[in-house]
Amino acid sequence: MAARGEILPYNDYGGAMRRRLGGRVQKLAVDAYLGCPHRPAGSNTGGCTFCLGEAFSPSYCRTRLSITEQIDAALRFHHSRGRRADVYLAYFQAGTNTNAPVDRLRKLYTEALQHPAISGLIIGTRPDCISSEIVNLLAELSHDKYIAIEYGIETTDDNVLRHINRGHDFTAVERAVALTRQHSCIDIGAHIILGLPYETRESIVASIAKINALGIDYIKLHQLQIYHNTPIAEEWQTHPERFLLGDNFGAEQYAALVVDILRRLSPTIAIDRFLARAPRHMLLCSPLAGIDSDTFRRMVINRIRTLNATQGDIL
Ligand code: SF4
Repeated sequence: MAARGEILPYNDYGGAMRRRLGGRVQKLAVDAYLGCPHRPAGSNTGGCTFCLGEAFSPSYCRTRLSITEQIDAALRFHHSRGRRADVYLAYFQAGTNTNAPVDRLRKLYTEALQHPAISGLIIGTRPDCISSEIVNLLAELSHDKYIAIEYGIETTDDNVLRHINRGHDFTAVERAVALTRQHSCIDIGAHIILGLPYETRESIVASIAKINALGIDYIKLHQLQIYHNTPIAEEWQTHPERFLLGDNFGAEQYAALVVDILRRLSPTIAIDRFLARAPRHMLLCSPLAGIDSDTFRRMVINRIRTLNATQGDIL
């Protein structure tokens, strides 16, 4: 965490949200059990090669509870760990949270918004699973609540998207963001993975210009994590040379990559996180598993300051 009052050399999502919503914000992950159109239920095939669905659900989401029950459980979970916030947002994170008819989505989203603790929603989804009707619903809900949609972009490179069986190209991302942008009341987030097969340091850094051009409000960066029993785990074992973040890729190298990205990222885009943290037992490989988020964040801050740099200074 940044020290209280510390001015950070980048646009920090936590600070931006605090200013926007008037207090410390905590996301509460809920699972709407909507699955994913790219990985049919009961199937062990299909889907993105890196995907292990349950990696995204916190423990309080593992049994089928209603949205209200999940929010209550999440609040108990956070309070029992001494975490208090001023503003709580329901985070529809696992799977593809626009994967249902609009009437069903309305019920699910409205149930979350009717919880007395909840001030808004964040909806995680694929860029090829959005429509005018869904965007209009979100715009309507945003009249009196905070609403964000978070698109999984993963990479801007169509060859890599094909290779990881993502099921859409970068044009789908551009279309989804442009459609959502028609309503300035909806915040747009994006998620990218650093170190997918065939990505190089140079290709990742060069891709940031495409991210800037989208017109998103915030971004989550995370290193590729290789889960057991996924197609990418097999690729990792048979073709390790395809992966930038190998066993020898240390935190200092990753921090240098993140800083190179930040220096090219538009200062208007808030940065939500730099690292992903899946439970270690689920990972075949995670070169950065030994470092916690706050320590890593401090490494990034120190590196930017040492370079006398700031977010977007070499756009
Ligand atoms: S879109 Fe998401 S949930 Fe669906 S297969 Fe890909 S990573 Fe998994």
